[in-house]
Amino acid sequence: MALVCVISSYFPIAFADEEKSLEELQNRYEEIEKDIQENQEKLDEVQADIKTNEQKLDELNGQIDSIEEQIGLLDESIEILNGDIDDLQGDIDVTTEDINKINLQIADIEAQMASTETLMEETKELLLARIRENYMSGGNGSTLELLLSSGDISSFFARKELVTRVSERDNELIADLSDKLVELAELQKENEAQKAQLEGKRAELDTQMNSLTDKQDDLESSLDSQKKKKNNVTGKKDEVKYLLEDLDKDSDAYKAAIKRQEKERAELEAEIENAIKSQGSTENDVPDEEFNNDGNMIWPVPGSTRLTATYPSYSDGSPHWGIDIVRTDVTTKGSPFRAAQGGEVILAKNDGNWNSGFGNYCIIDHGDGKHTLYAHAQRLQVSEGDVVQKGQQIGLIGDTGNTTGPHLHFEVRIKKSDGSVSRVNPLNYVSKP
Ligand SMILES: [Zn+2]
Repeated sequence: MALVCVISSYFPIAFADEEKSLEELQNRYEEIEKDIQENQEKLDEVQADIKTNEQKLDELNGQIDSIEEQIGLLDESIEILNGDIDDLQGDIDVTTEDINKINLQIADIEAQMASTETLMEETKELLLARIRENYMSGGNGSTLELLLSSGDISSFFARKELVTRVSERDNELIADLSDKLVELAELQKENEAQKAQLEGKRAELDTQMNSLTDKQDDLESSLDSQKKKKNNVTGKKDEVKYLLEDLDKDSDAYKAAIKRQEKERAELEAEIENAIKSQGSTENDVPDEEFNNDGNMIWPVPGSTRLTATYPSYSDGSPHWGIDIVRTDVTTKGSPFRAAQGGEVILAKNDGNWNSGFGNYCIIDHGDGKHTLYAHAQRLQVSEGDVVQKGQQIGLIGDTGNTTGPHLHFEVRIKKSDGSVSRVNPLNYVSKP
């Protein structure tokens, strides 16, 4: 199990006194990666995602603009085309009306021709009857036979024999009827020609109309497909927008978490530094005699040298200013830890609180500017002001504060002659037994 004790958290909540609630909170913390670096990495990832999605959004907006432009052009074309179609339909209507008029005229003339022909038939019968009478009274029978053999009514009236046999009045009648028939036939011919012309024109207009409606169909289907495309792209755009909103929230959450963590770290550092600076010894100060200090530090956890994290960083690169020690032979939690050297306890927090992530912890001043720090204790067995001897049991290992499991977090801090305090590698001061 990886044991983490960086000063970070999503939930800077004060611990209750009971160990049970400590554990409950601990379990919650264990599920969350808490250190600043990880949050920073996540923040970087989220911000990279935001950038990518913003680019995607720009791209989609560009696509929508170009689709809308195409839709606008198609709408214009369709409007123009609809005007053309209306004009053409007007032409077709006028032509159809003209054709109907011509048809009426043709029907009228046909009726006139029919009545003229009827009149001519009657006249023919009348004339023949008269010639027949004349023949009976001793006239020329061959003329009658000749007239009776004439084909249609026009050729009957065109016969010279007829003209010589009828009266002047009859001849005028014949001439009138023939003229009218010719006139009507000519008029009919003209009407037919005009009708043919109009029908030709209408056929041409119908062809034009077909091509315009085909074009209209094409434009409408292009418009439909552009609209579908726009819906599709708009859907994608909405997705990216929602994603961006979520990412912004994530980003804000990570920023807030980092800010809290940094504040906690600063508070803790301020507390520790303040304690060492105000009360701790300085390099080259002679250690107090009652410390019985031999100048060498002893390994703080008897029975185990197992390290789960070392100075100055975790395996993932985030900072770690001490060493983490666990037991492998017995259960770590509740195992004793001891003073690395004789000295005076200058800071001891045994309240079970979060304490910016260190939980229960204490600092011992060994003189000569050397200080050791012990964190995450289940319980401390010393108080501020106590003088401890080298190897003296000072507490039980626990998992208070920010950890992913029970371990002793051990640090060595040196206060230099200029008053500054630095965190050094504990393995340069304590050797594994
Ligand atoms: Zn640690």
